[in-house]
Amino acid sequence: MTQKYAKCFCYVAVVMLLLNMGLTKPEAAEAGHLSAPVHYISMEFELQSGRLRANSRIDLPAGVNLHLGLSSLNVSQIIINGQQAEQAGDKNYIDIPALPKEQEILISYSKEIETGSSPYNLISEAGITLIDSWYPVADHEMFFKLTAHIPAEFEAVSEADEIITFPVNGRKQVTFRFPHPLFSINFIAGPYIVNRESFGEDKALVSYFFPEDQHLAADYLAKAKKYLARYEEMLGPYPYNRFAIVENRLPTGFAMPTFTLLGQSVVRLPFIIDTSLGHEVLHAWLGNGVRMSPLEGNWVEGLTTYLADQSFAADEGRGIAYRKGQLVKYQSFVRPDMDLVLRDFSNVGHGNIAGQPIRAVGYNKSSMFFHMLRNKVGPEIFTASLRDFVKRTKFKTAGWSDLQNSFASISGMDLEDFFAQWLDRAYVPELAVQNAEVINKDGYPLLRFSIIQKNDAPYVLEVPVIIKTASEELHKTLSVSESSTLFEIPLASVPHALVIDPGYDLMRQLAPSELPPTWSQFLGAANKIAVLPSEEHRGRYKSFLEILAASEVRVLLQDEVSDKDLAENSLIFLGIEGNLSRSLFARPDHPAGGFILDVRRNPLNPDQVAVLVSAGDTEQVDMTAGKLRHYGKYSYLSFKDGRNLEKNITATDSGLRIKLVSLPPGIETSSSKNFGDIIANLLQYQVIYIGESHTNYEDHLLQLEIIRALYEQDPRLAIGMEMFNRQSQSVLDLYLAGELDEKSFLKESDYFKTWRFDYRLYREIINFARHNHLPVIALNLEKNIVNQVFKNGGADSLDEEEASLLPADRKLDEPGYRERIGAAFMMHAGQGQNGDFSGFLQAQALWDETMAETIVEYLKAYPDERMVVIAGRGHVDKINAIPPRVARRLQVSQAVVINSVGSPSESDTADFIFFSPAAMLSPFPLLGVMLEDTEDEEGVLVTALNSQGKAIDAGIKEKDIILAIDSQPVNEIEDVKIEMLYKEKSDAVTVRVKRRAFPFGTRELDIEVGLKSAESHHM
Ligand SMILES: [Zn+2]
Repeated sequence: MTQKYAKCFCYVAVVMLLLNMGLTKPEAAEAGHLSAPVHYISMEFELQSGRLRANSRIDLPAGVNLHLGLSSLNVSQIIINGQQAEQAGDKNYIDIPALPKEQEILISYSKEIETGSSPYNLISEAGITLIDSWYPVADHEMFFKLTAHIPAEFEAVSEADEIITFPVNGRKQVTFRFPHPLFSINFIAGPYIVNRESFGEDKALVSYFFPEDQHLAADYLAKAKKYLARYEEMLGPYPYNRFAIVENRLPTGFAMPTFTLLGQSVVRLPFIIDTSLGHEVLHAWLGNGVRMSPLEGNWVEGLTTYLADQSFAADEGRGIAYRKGQLVKYQSFVRPDMDLVLRDFSNVGHGNIAGQPIRAVGYNKSSMFFHMLRNKVGPEIFTASLRDFVKRTKFKTAGWSDLQNSFASISGMDLEDFFAQWLDRAYVPELAVQNAEVINKDGYPLLRFSIIQKNDAPYVLEVPVIIKTASEELHKTLSVSESSTLFEIPLASVPHALVIDPGYDLMRQLAPSELPPTWSQFLGAANKIAVLPSEEHRGRYKSFLEILAASEVRVLLQDEVSDKDLAENSLIFLGIEGNLSRSLFARPDHPAGGFILDVRRNPLNPDQVAVLVSAGDTEQVDMTAGKLRHYGKYSYLSFKDGRNLEKNITATDSGLRIKLVSLPPGIETSSSKNFGDIIANLLQYQVIYIGESHTNYEDHLLQLEIIRALYEQDPRLAIGMEMFNRQSQSVLDLYLAGELDEKSFLKESDYFKTWRFDYRLYREIINFARHNHLPVIALNLEKNIVNQVFKNGGADSLDEEEASLLPADRKLDEPGYRERIGAAFMMHAGQGQNGDFSGFLQAQALWDETMAETIVEYLKAYPDERMVVIAGRGHVDKINAIPPRVARRLQVSQAVVINSVGSPSESDTADFIFFSPAAMLSPFPLLGVMLEDTEDEEGVLVTALNSQGKAIDAGIKEKDIILAIDSQPVNEIEDVKIEMLYKEKSDAVTVRVKRRAFPFGTRELDIEVGLKSAESHHM
């Protein structure tokens, strides 16, 4: 809610006058001083035609000039000092130059207001509201003396310490007395029921509610009385003689001197008496009693927000959440390039998106400024300084410098730099922690870390921190004034977390871990795209699209959106059934029928958000679209018929959290279970994942043992394997049916081309299945497709056939997925892989989604079977890998089994952990050559020789072409691998090579090579 400000900002030396409100003119208290003009207005109404007729008389003191705006009035006559002025019909203003004597200006005018044409003015039988340009508006402060003739059944309010009513000819004449000069005046009348009470030292508290809302009056009066008492105690006596709560036919929320004007739709909202009413009451002191100096910017809204809204939230234990909300809002709307400085804030209207960044500075940053000021000087001095400020500046205009003077003189502190850094800089501090480590010193932990300020010029800050140990929370305040400040804190026990600014006491940039995705963040984003699944959706979301147009959203059909667009923009999907939104978020679980707005992080760019919108029909869109601007701080909104049913903010970290030391978890051996007991437990699950580190043989032995044990208990078992592509299922089936030998199976399934790891790791698992006629299900997607997605950063480059092989529903924002995959990406990036992270993330998700989809397809076809899934540890993570993606598709019981490798996260990511002893296969027999496929049909090229290997001793040379091993022809590298699989370390093999002969032609040689085993991947 706002306070109403005059539209002119010319500073006038204010002289306090005690007015005689009779017919005699007021006079200056001291001769020779300038006194303010006095403006007499007398008016009457024609309600049916929405017309007012009025006469203004302005007594202008000697030496004062005047500019009067007339543009919105029908002026019939202007008489200046007894002289008829030129016909002023189409003049927008008149200027009256100063004279050494007093002057008198008389103006007759009328104004017609068509109902519904203005948000501020109304003249109707339902009520009268006059706020905007309804009389000749001056550029000076004036004393007003207003008299109005209104219908007998109406009551009227204006800025007044006293309101005097007479019956005149079946109507009422109302006169208002107010002893303070004003830039502008407002007039409200209507068929009010008036309730009067008193407060403080015999002051009047009055409510003006329409008969239909009369039941609200008692609560409003009781609450207002509490607020008035609260602020009298805090800031000194209420500045006027009366305070009125006035209901308005128009939807306003204004604080005028001596009254607050609240729209009918506003007063009916249940939370207004707990929030906005107090804010408007406080404006009696701040903004009206002490007015904002037009020369120094607006301190009023920040201070009022802090002492009202923030303070009410703090009273209810929600102070931290409230302040965090202010930082979120600031960060959502204010971008560094906007160059918005708090001292420049003057005022901005409500409701328009363009004004949001300015409001985020003028209300939210400003409120945080006062919070930091309070923490700096302490609560008692803070209140004492405010009282001093109000006392010094009451009924005057005041600016930031007056506030600074009061705070400096009461606190005795030099606050120049403090005010300057917060009022004059366009950015806010961005803090980070670097090099956090815990070392031991004298047997106790010492926490060492640096607080970094990422800004160019560091701020001077008092940074609150909490250090959490197993036994306590240590609160400290750290002084920071450099770009990097090192701290060493001795502790009694091991710290597990360091939290910077846990109470949101600093105006600062939030870290991504603290920032919830919100509707505001979408509206405030610099680059936005609205994605429509089809042309039909353009019609359904028409009213929403019209609203989005105000915030510069590019509207595209899903086919027009590129991978680059997705990664660079904030997105809004109007309809969740399109392929594009399904490729990022699968199908979100939105209740049907109403209107859902669901804000997530853009999984391809966490600095951006993605909004998923679903609506039952056009009507639901139309009923809701206009209301959304009130819900900017939320992440998830559910409406039905335009009524809000649910609103949530996604939970994020409270404070900037740095994880420190995790003491290791353990198992009490007396509660550990033997293998058979765990198998008995596993029998309760339909899908059992057994994760592996691909080269750890003990993991494969565990897989085989579990498969065999489960099979013995229940033979309805299938084995799903990451190691084979779905395209190779028919080859697998032939091998399992005994219709292919192992060599042909390996060759035709492309095992060594796609998977590459030593086949002996999996051989006995597959042979167990073959022996017992168990199905083995190839789970994976063709590697080539995944590689393309990885290298090109998305699925754009796939042709139609390739694209049809992808699962349509891919969820990239499983909790913690991005972070986990990010860590893996950093490792791969170190190995010089191509492609960006967005492609890597999508490729990983494609694997997990494809495997999940294949598992589910099988279980749907064979609901009585159990499946053991064999895949890498990363794919079986129960939080965010395959298991939740299976659960999304099918309700099924699942368990994750791994061998412990001593990682602390194991107990979170798996259900059963084994402690298998390490095991090794016998070394793979190797020739000691590096190979490359040739372009020719036959043979593979030797590109290098291992100096330790046997091939070099046997006489194989670089550039030899290997044609056969033990008479088995070799055409591709995988042929070599397959042949070598059947050799023992002790064997010797005969290698047929083709070698270039000098000077022309080639010759073929048979070379016998003894086998050398090695750990490397040389053949
Ligand atoms: Zn306000």
